[in-house]
Amino acid sequence: MNRLVILGGGESGVGTAILGKQNGYEVFVSDKGKIKEEYKDVLEHFEINWEEENHTESKILNASLVMKSPGIPDTAPLVKEIHNKGIPVISEIEFASKYTNATIIGITGSNGKTTTTMLAGHLLKEEGLHMGVAGNIGDSYAKMVAENNYDFYVLEISSFQLDGIVDFKPHIAILTNITPDHLDRYEYKFENYIASKFKIAKNQTNEDFLIYDADDEVISTWLAKNPVKSKLLPFSVKKQLKEGAYLKDDKIIINIQNNILEMTTDTLALEGVHNLKNTMAAATAARLVSIRKETIRQSVANFQGVEHRLEKVLKIHHVQYINDSKATNVNATYYALESMKTATVWIVGGVDKGNDYTELMPFVREKVKAIICLGEDNSKIKDVFGNVVDLMVETYDMNEAVKVAYKIAERGETVLLSPACASFDLFDNYEDRGNQFKQAVKNL
Ligand code: ADP
Repeated sequence: MNRLVILGGGESGVGTAILGKQNGYEVFVSDKGKIKEEYKDVLEHFEINWEEENHTESKILNASLVMKSPGIPDTAPLVKEIHNKGIPVISEIEFASKYTNATIIGITGSNGKTTTTMLAGHLLKEEGLHMGVAGNIGDSYAKMVAENNYDFYVLEISSFQLDGIVDFKPHIAILTNITPDHLDRYEYKFENYIASKFKIAKNQTNEDFLIYDADDEVISTWLAKNPVKSKLLPFSVKKQLKEGAYLKDDKIIINIQNNILEMTTDTLALEGVHNLKNTMAAATAARLVSIRKETIRQSVANFQGVEHRLEKVLKIHHVQYINDSKATNVNATYYALESMKTATVWIVGGVDKGNDYTELMPFVREKVKAIICLGEDNSKIKDVFGNVVDLMVETYDMNEAVKVAYKIAERGETVLLSPACASFDLFDNYEDRGNQFKQAVKNL
């Protein structure tokens, strides 16, 4: 009997269930929490068995294969028991990839995954390729594989997804950067987290490509000690490279085997140094699948950007309001502050995952005229920045924060929501936080 048990009835779980059923598995979906109504309807429609608010062991430990949603840690007692029984536990990307021959561009890293994925997807789409984009946004990869016959997939891949791979191999891998994150899932060892990210290249051969940030010392140090088989295509905003992507004057140069693409940086839709990097990575991948240079130049200029990532909301009385709610760690906020071109009223705070704010200091001294704390407990931010800025205000809900910002900001300045923290104290998630910000700005 081929019994596929799926732990977690969310987007990736339900997608995997559809694909498994289609391929002859007897499928069972089990979720310890509640399953959304819309997903229940889908499961019913495909006649897939499911349970919620419970894991019935007798219906799970008889599996021949288990697909675990990325949110469930390996340390969960049930997962340990499944491992003890010798039942393979894999992730959605591993399962879905078995059922497609499409060329895969897989994108991982600590920050910039979604932006790079959306941009790479946009470049392929503008060329008219038959392709799907999957990851954190929209339909799951597994569902797309079940319902389409695409030639290309652009996939955003978390380290949790990579932890559950065996044979998964993207033809083109992008590693945007590595900074400490999610360490609670990696025994608080940064090494384990790095190793997990590098699994993106684990099954690659010398026919495949790894595009990575050559300015990121964590990546270069690891690569020097742990070579991969893939062809390496680095990108850098600091140095010229023989092969790969780099800056020369006001141009991005992408050199792949002496075939050169040049793009001026002032036409790029996305602002900030981090987005130069994301653009380099996405455009390099696009060149590898033979997207025309002209398409790339046009598409990086007309890209709409991604919601909640340095998203320009409105200009009110010549003050620009920017929503960077997705900045849930210090590194993301670093690039947001770096990209500010005017004096800034900075809204920051939330659930701190052990933040070290030191690296933000130079930007805060230079650009931040006021800090608006927005969290249940703002003591750390007050301690760190209290003496650095002239004005600091504590707020406890978004409307209040935005109203205070409105009072402080003057003509020509910027109000930036870039919290450097998770959102779970005052909001459902970062989307909720970003939406509340946008609504509050619109209500001004
Ligand atoms: P991810 O999907 O990896 O979380 P996003 O594209 O959603 O990445 O961006 C998350 C946050 O990180 C945003 O605040 C964004 O402005 C910032 N960011 C985007 N690209 C980079 C990068 N290359 N390096 C650092 N921060 C980045």
